[in-house]
Amino acid sequence: MGRPLFTENADSYNRRIDYLRISITDRCNLRCCYCMPAGGVYPVKHREILRYEEILRIVRVFAGMGLTKVRLTGGEPLLRKHVCGLVERIVKQEGIRDVGITTNGVLLKEMAQPLYDAGLRRINVSLDTLNPLKFRMITGTDHHREVLAGISEAERVGFDPIKVNVVLLKNINSDDLLRFAQLSRNTRYQVRFIEWMPIGRCRGEDGSRFFSAQDAKKLLESTGRLIPIPRSRYDGPAERYRFDSAAGEVGLIGSVSNHFCRECNRMRLTADGKLRPCLLSDEEVDVRSALRANCSDHCLSRLIQTAIALKPAKHGLDFRSDHVCRRDMSQIGG
Ligand code: SAM
Ligand code: SF4
Repeated sequence: MGRPLFTENADSYNRRIDYLRISITDRCNLRCCYCMPAGGVYPVKHREILRYEEILRIVRVFAGMGLTKVRLTGGEPLLRKHVCGLVERIVKQEGIRDVGITTNGVLLKEMAQPLYDAGLRRINVSLDTLNPLKFRMITGTDHHREVLAGISEAERVGFDPIKVNVVLLKNINSDDLLRFAQLSRNTRYQVRFIEWMPIGRCRGEDGSRFFSAQDAKKLLESTGRLIPIPRSRYDGPAERYRFDSAAGEVGLIGSVSNHFCRECNRMRLTADGKLRPCLLSDEEVDVRSALRANCSDHCLSRLIQTAIALKPAKHGLDFRSDHVCRRDMSQIGG
């Protein structure tokens, strides 16, 4: 019998940390202007990327401490080989009740059915514009049509909910909001408008592209009454609304202007094996070295607890502050 695992997952501010976002790769097939620096990225070496067995071990030990919810992200998670096998094993992990993925949707048309068959039900697809030319401007690629086809396929195979993530970019996609509002009326999609966070080398120096969730809300309200939807614990940070008789809904995520740190229940695992207690703080705990030095489950649970204890009360991020988050978003996993 080994020593008992820690079951405590409360941080220093009494928040229960039961949600892990796992970046399974730092590679990506898009170059979104707010995420990947124009000057290029330095890919993590293959040997430094966590193997699936290592990820699964972290999930198993963390689940023993109260982890219930996992989201796979990246980089672009669908670029990593055999991702469906990983999904299947996480879905089957005792204690894990909720598994999701965040994808840019480029490969979703082919992957939606195998992902569904692997047991995945929740999917977030990032799409900042319904205009192919703007898509090119934002992502540097012409994959708009593939993303739309991916979302339709996800709907066809039965994913529910399908969340569409839209990063708010002033004077770039502000006029798309009304088209997204219409999409939430005509489909069951949950369209979520997310404030651009100044992270890494894409921090958008002067904030001139920043468009707040509150301004987005005003714009949406100009097209019709927004009916609030009561929030539940698993909703995450979105303020949720529905237009009258709409099939879907809209959500507003004020990550910068109205941060939700007090209710934050999440932690991140980077592709290179660092536990990151807060997206916006550079404090990290290296679990890969411990795993590769054959640490015990007890030691791993201690490292997870150390990371939980490091979680700050709140982030100090805004476009005016000197706070700099060193890693780029694609290296952390959004
Ligand atoms: N490649 C996948 C995708 O785009 O969905 C998953 C990784 S991406 C880093 C996860 C989410 O973070 C996406 O919805 C993306 O729009 C969002 N994101 C990236 N950089 C951001 C930033 N600076 N501010 C706000 N959201 C950002
Ligand atoms: Fe790639 Fe997602 Fe970052 Fe866009 S937001 S560059 S799709 S990781």
